[in-house]
Amino acid sequence: MAIESYIGATILTNPSTPESNSPPVRAAKLKTLIQHALEAGATRASAISTNDISVENNLADMCREPRCKCYGLSTSCPPHVTGPTGFRKLLKNFSRAVFFKIDVPSEILFSSDRREIFQLLHEISSGIERKAVKMGFLNARAYAGGSCKQIFCYDYSDCRVLSENRKCRNPHVARPSMSGFGINVARLIKTARWNKTQTSTNDEAKPTKMTGVYGLVLIY
Ligand code: SF4
Repeated sequence: MAIESYIGATILTNPSTPESNSPPVRAAKLKTLIQHALEAGATRASAISTNDISVENNLADMCREPRCKCYGLSTSCPPHVTGPTGFRKLLKNFSRAVFFKIDVPSEILFSSDRREIFQLLHEISSGIERKAVKMGFLNARAYAGGSCKQIFCYDYSDCRVLSENRKCRNPHVARPSMSGFGINVARLIKTARWNKTQTSTNDEAKPTKMTGVYGLVLIY
């Protein structure tokens, strides 16, 4: 079972009235979701067209070769996800998404604190998804960088869905990794006009190199 299945693999019909789905209302709701992302801890968040989401087989292939150490360890990673083919099919049902990032001092991403950053990333992503569903976007679907096995189930030998065919231990926060679907994050960064790395100027005497970690939520 792929992780998408417990956050709703079926595309549902939105019961909202035509008025509540009008373009201005949708645009206002997107703004609210962006505000929500920022309040939850995102450094930047942007509404994007799903036409700007490039899905590339060769990017997804890199999970397998050279093999990522998380390959096959959870339902959120290949070969247990639907991959680029499934994602392209899914994308046909969406026209807008929220792309967001958290800027982190680069040294933290190489330290033992990195797990907390990725936990926050998944919390923000799943939080946007939940809020979008409450707003009537019943098919909202969240993704985030990193493997949920490493982020949430590091103390367990196995992913419970894979090893016991039982429910995920963290269904409210764990979301599939973007990598396994071949989502070109670099292109999204360009679309959003963000810098990939930058220097914090909080302390001019000792500038800090910052790196972004990213999440994506398909909204409607
Ligand atoms: S049980 Fe753990 S490893 Fe498996 S999908 Fe859930 S969070 Fe990921």
